[in-house]
Amino acid sequence: MGKYVIAGNWKMNKTPSEAKALIEEIKPLVKDATCDVIVGVPFVDLQVALEATAGTNIGVAAQNCHWAKSGAFTAEISAEMLKEMGVGYVIIGHSERRQYFGETDVTVNQRVRAALDAGLTVILCVGEYLEQREQGITAEVCAMQTKIALQGVSADEMSRIIIAYEPVWAIGTGRTATAEQANEVCADIRKVIAALYNDAVAAATTIQYGGSMNAGNAAELLAQSDVDGGLIGGASLKAPDFATIVAAAK
Ligand code: PEP
Repeated sequence: MGKYVIAGNWKMNKTPSEAKALIEEIKPLVKDATCDVIVGVPFVDLQVALEATAGTNIGVAAQNCHWAKSGAFTAEISAEMLKEMGVGYVIIGHSERRQYFGETDVTVNQRVRAALDAGLTVILCVGEYLEQREQGITAEVCAMQTKIALQGVSADEMSRIIIAYEPVWAIGTGRTATAEQANEVCADIRKVIAALYNDAVAAATTIQYGGSMNAGNAAELLAQSDVDGGLIGGASLKAPDFATIVAAAK
């Protein structure tokens, strides 16, 4: 299966000085991690995060990027800007972007393309609403989001795509998918990648689970055969909890 990756999504939390303090707290706790460790910070924290993580095993992610290289897009940030700063990763298609900021599958695909062109690694978020799960269309929704987001992405470029399966009903709600539910959908997504590319690409792709993963439930979720890591919101803001999740990713 794919390489284990544990990524924190800090969302709109932490000022630059608070970000520096949290990273300083996280650093010694994850220095012996056997998985990749990433912190996804607000744009204004990127510089301080890059400085604080220099020479460590912690990567830095932005939480979005625009699809254009430059232009009249007030307040937006391009993938090229992130790349030049030294940022390695970008989260794209988070459900909060889709839900509150009009992000669509098509713009997710455009942003993925721009991020890859700039040399970034993408954490691509997909996941169903509760209503869709209840309608029995979880696999279809996740397949559709994955297929559209990956349009124009080559098999070689898949080495720079991490997929985060995040059921919307589990994000920030304290309601976690069961380990079986998480594994089932991650396995479905892997089948979609196998059909789009081939079995080797599917096996090598990191597929994370995200949605109220915490220090208490991480080990069980991460032990599932098709779960290769986690995208962590709330629990990534507490250094000991984040470190416990990192340690569970073996
Ligand atoms: C997220 O923001 O991607 C997330 C999974 O949040 P939480 O862990 O708080 O549910």
